[in-house]
Amino acid sequence: MTSPDLPTFDDVAAAAGRLQGHAHLTPVLRSRTADELLGAQVFFKCENFQRMGAFKFRGAFNALSRFDAAQRRAGVAAFSSGNHAQAIALSARELGIPATILMPADAPAAKLAATRGYGAEVITYDRMRDDRDALSRKLAEERGMTLIPPYDHPDVIAGQGTAAKELFEQTGPLDHLFTCTGGGGMTSSSALSAHALSPGCRVYGVEPLAGNDGQQSFRSGHIVRIPTPETIADGAQTQYLGNYTFAIIRRDVHDMLTATDAQLVEAMRFFAERMKMVVEPTGCLSFAGARHGGVDLRGARVGVIVSGGNVDMQRFASLLA
Ligand SMILES: *Cc1c(COP(=O)(O)O)cnc(C)c1O
Repeated sequence: MTSPDLPTFDDVAAAAGRLQGHAHLTPVLRSRTADELLGAQVFFKCENFQRMGAFKFRGAFNALSRFDAAQRRAGVAAFSSGNHAQAIALSARELGIPATILMPADAPAAKLAATRGYGAEVITYDRMRDDRDALSRKLAEERGMTLIPPYDHPDVIAGQGTAAKELFEQTGPLDHLFTCTGGGGMTSSSALSAHALSPGCRVYGVEPLAGNDGQQSFRSGHIVRIPTPETIADGAQTQYLGNYTFAIIRRDVHDMLTATDAQLVEAMRFFAERMKMVVEPTGCLSFAGARHGGVDLRGARVGVIVSGGNVDMQRFASLLA
């Protein structure tokens, strides 16, 4: 893919305009304990406090805002077991667009209920038996709906980049920025904002160790596909980066790091005990990477994007037990 196809910071800035009055301006929180642990000044951008509990609202809302009249009438289709489903459902409701979401039948009941609660029609499929991609294409064709994927779409990427844009506007320049990586929407878009607003800031993506396809792709120079990884970071159980996200990550990201499940639980406990925040396992990737990823942060100004807080309270308690 040639670079003119890739979203740019101008697209992020335009997305920020569309999100104004719809997305929360989330707080940047500090912790002296975190500063001491890292020997740095740490700025946590708390997207766990974003609407529907994760940064995904930004990308979904931006993508749906760009629908023309015919697309709005026909509606949006999406597939997701997690935050993208809720993000599309909430954005669609807000914009008066009908939404149909394909979700695995064994998705957590709370997520199915939340997605239906935002007014979307939920169609369930069998994770083992059905071909999700074929099902969603068929659905989109039959109903004339526009399919919005969870990360590999220029409008989704542009929307996600507004979180890092806001962070730099709130804190000023940073030396390092740690992001959570699934399909690479957050990481690639954060790099676009970093390059524009804080040149010289090094951006890192952090993946679960068991699912380090992004790191392998980054190092090898082509998109590496892996089987669905086993990790508690359910928002990062992606098998491969997207074409857009990989091209930007390859060009603009400094390095791709990994975190173990134990390090994610340690971060989850830190957020709960020290900062009184509920952060989902996937949202802990960035801090775990900052703490254990081997980057020398002494004396630096460090941004950490906390990507989401949607975790079942029972699961939260059992992970911390
Ligand atoms: C989707 C998601 C991610 C990963 O984002 P990508 O854009 O797919 O890389 C990280 N954290 C949370 C909470 C998510 O919902």
